[in-house]
Amino acid sequence: MSNSVELVQTDVDLQPFNTLNISARARKFASVESVAELKELLTDFDSESPLVLGGGSNILFSDDFEGLVLHMAIGGKEIIKETKEHIWLKVGAGENWHQTVRYCVNRRWGGIENLSLIPGTMGAAPIQNIGAYGVELKEVFEWLQAVNIETAEEERFEKQDCRFGYRESIFKNELKGKYIITNVVLRLSKYPRLNTSYGAIKTELEAREIKDPDIRDISDIVIDIRNSKLPNPETLGNVGSFFKNPIVDKKVYERIKETHPETPGYPMKNHEVKIPAGWLIEQAGWKGKVVGNVGTYKQQALVIVNYGGATGREILQLASDIRKSVEEQFGIELVPEVNIV
Ligand SMILES: Cc1cc2nc3c(=O)[nH]c(=O)nc-3n(C[C@H](O)[C@H](O)[C@H](O)COP(=O)(O)OP(=O)(O)OC[C@H]3O[C@@H](n4cnc5c(N)ncnc54)[C@H](O)[C@@H]3O)c2cc1C
Repeated sequence: MSNSVELVQTDVDLQPFNTLNISARARKFASVESVAELKELLTDFDSESPLVLGGGSNILFSDDFEGLVLHMAIGGKEIIKETKEHIWLKVGAGENWHQTVRYCVNRRWGGIENLSLIPGTMGAAPIQNIGAYGVELKEVFEWLQAVNIETAEEERFEKQDCRFGYRESIFKNELKGKYIITNVVLRLSKYPRLNTSYGAIKTELEAREIKDPDIRDISDIVIDIRNSKLPNPETLGNVGSFFKNPIVDKKVYERIKETHPETPGYPMKNHEVKIPAGWLIEQAGWKGKVVGNVGTYKQQALVIVNYGGATGREILQLASDIRKSVEEQFGIELVPEVNIV
């Protein structure tokens, strides 16, 4: 029997592996700890298109998964280059994102402190170009390595290859389901320029009377703000923002403002405006609403919550009802941020 076959378990409950806390079964399941193991598995199970799972914090299982789930557990952090100003850190896809942020903050390597406390793994971070509090992964991203599922060969992707956008990358689009990210290289700054553009960070710095903040202050503040606003998936199943914030043409925004003058909007490039999806959902009457085992979070309507024992289908039904209400009221189609399987 080959080693890779020994790695594979059958009929595994995925509940401990997704932060929505949904029970779904994987017909086959393997935890992958090295690139060699991954290549071996892909070669031995070449007829199947596997599902890659990191921390399960951006995935919704609508049903059991009939194929092979590959749980990414490839570890390792390595400095691969250093100059007077920068550090190039190569991180394994299975490393926890937040722990990596704190690892960098503790060493005074700046660039990702605003992204503190985002759940999940390093390998998933480029998939949707994670972002929070005025910063996106792409700002520190250098390159990544990923194994081509068809050839089982490792390839390198530079920043421009990844086509990063707002919660987007090529891996969510043209290359969806074709590559498995094995490691990511970040370029961090030894003399970081802090990003305090986000209002809540500024307010907290003032409240704490911090006049000369460093990256640890920013990280600590972001952690505290997030803890006060978002439900902890360990106690209340969720995937953070369920939908993306819609970006509409300025003309569409002006039209909405004719009937809803108070609609918030943030100007973007190309005469576009970003409208907070949470606000739209709240206006449509869904904030804090509970339907059976599911609902929206009482403090933030954009977060759909499993109040206990929910199925993936119940979550999908609620999401569909919310989309319908928002579309009827505002003519805007909400797009899920979560990956639905
Ligand atoms: C409370 C909470 C708050 C959140 N806040 C934010 C936020 O502020 N900003 C933000 O951007 N996101 C946020 N998220 C969403 C989520 O944390 C991120 O998208 C995170 O990057 C997902 O990582 P993961 O390892 O859990 O991915 P998973 O959920 O396991 O996977 C997500 C997708 O990526 C694919 N994937 C995972 N790993 C790999 C890999 N190595 N190679 C190829 N494909 C892979 C999966 O197949 C799936 O399609 C939040 C989630 C929660 C629960």
